Amino acid sequence: MNLRDYIRDIPDYPKPGIMFFDITPILKSPKALQYAVDGLAERFSGCGASKIVAAEARGFLFGTPLAVKMGIGFAPVRKPGKLPYKNRSVTYDLEYGTDTLCMHEDAIDPGDKVLIIDDLLATGGTAVGMVQLVRETGADIVGSGFVVELGFLDGVKTMQNAGVEPTCLLT
Ligand code: 5GP
Repeated sequence: MNLRDYIRDIPDYPKPGIMFFDITPILKSPKALQYAVDGLAERFSGCGASKIVAAEARGFLFGTPLAVKMGIGFAPVRKPGKLPYKNRSVTYDLEYGTDTLCMHEDAIDPGDKVLIIDDLLATGGTAVGMVQLVRETGADIVGSGFVVELGFLDGVKTMQNAGVEPTCLLT
């Protein structure tokens, strides 16, 4: 199976000049979805993770089934104002401006071994924001996994500079 066949390129979305990689064809195909989740599970088998951390919204689509497959818990990371209980938050730089990510303050326990998951690694800003949030809890990060990596945006280097090696199914 070539996952590239299940990613649709949408020009000028969400803004003119941006090519958006739409992963919904993966979700539509039971085989492709199973292949993506199995592929991530295989790469992280034996990594000792006790919790998956993933950002809304598309990170949930792969992070939650992966948590079920690995038999571990899941901690959602969301935009401000979305989580009902007490939050911890991190604000990180984007090319133009900043963004903020939040997590429930009890979502991760200090001894947890965390696997960070998202659908796509572009600049790495979102993933590094999750790294910062997890580190604030005192938990260890044992890896990070992505279905797709956009090689031209240096997300891998950005993650490596943050001390976490990313694993991507499609590069
Ligand atoms: P980054 O923070 O690495 O620049 O962007 C990655 C984050 O933005 C991920 O959470 C991902 O869901 C979203 N994202 C950015 N560009 C795309 C894209 O082209 N396709 C998809 N599916 N997600 C994207």
